Amino acid sequence: MRKLSLLMAGWLGLTGRGTAAPSPVAAGADPFAAARQHMVISQLLGAGRGITNARVLAVMGQVPRHEFVPERLRAQAYDDHPLPIGYGQTISQPFIVAFMTEQLEPKPTDRVLEIGTGSGYQAAVLAGLVAKVYTIEIVEELAARAAADLKRLGYTNVQVRAGDGYKGWPEAAPFDAIMVTCAPERVPQPLVEQLKDGGRIIIPVGPLWNQELVLLRKRGGKLEQHAVLPVRFVPMTGKGQGKPEVRSVK
Ligand code: SAH
Repeated sequence: MRKLSLLMAGWLGLTGRGTAAPSPVAAGADPFAAARQHMVISQLLGAGRGITNARVLAVMGQVPRHEFVPERLRAQAYDDHPLPIGYGQTISQPFIVAFMTEQLEPKPTDRVLEIGTGSGYQAAVLAGLVAKVYTIEIVEELAARAAADLKRLGYTNVQVRAGDGYKGWPEAAPFDAIMVTCAPERVPQPLVEQLKDGGRIIIPVGPLWNQELVLLRKRGGKLEQHAVLPVRFVPMTGKGQGKPEVRSVK
């Protein structure tokens, strides 16, 4: 109980700021504030969920998820499921966003790469926790819309690129952490190469609709990996589709 109240104090911002970037969301009445707080309590802190990172909980309680979903679905923005965002793609369930973010152990000084920008929501969550987010989206229209939304909402530490994330972002590498939100059949080798030593990758891996969320850590040039959760993500399209890669670190 004591732990729970401490955590709640954390995400309500009562224990200090705790985020790397200033909260970019404009002040003023937010009709979704109560729904968002309820989401944090029931879907993230609740039974069987157990997100414990206070900084992650704080950011999940701040980022306006309703701004990243189609207008007609706004009333469902804080519900416990993914939502369509157009072009056959989805914004992940809030719990999955929080879980993957927590697994990355984000630090205020980190530079993070995300593959699969989609709506831009996950990038916004990361932006509140780390120094800089680089995010790549293969559907050009989605990349353009996410970039515009992130700019409109004041997220200045996110850079969006339209392209195939399989190849990573070599010019900005190496990264402290990499998050992949679409599922390749194997871990793309370029991403492993663009990860700093000591860095983490969280990635869904496997065939269509039957994937494991895998956490990889690079330590002393070696890659440690373990499966953390069975998941269902949209497939990684582009070069990574159906193309097995050797999982080794050079
Ligand atoms: N993180 C997103 C949800 C991602 S859905 C959010 O917060 O809304 C997965 C996204 O990955 C889709 O938008 C899809 O177009 C994109 N994607 C699929 N293959 C990709 C690839 N090779 N490179 C970059 N993006 C890819």
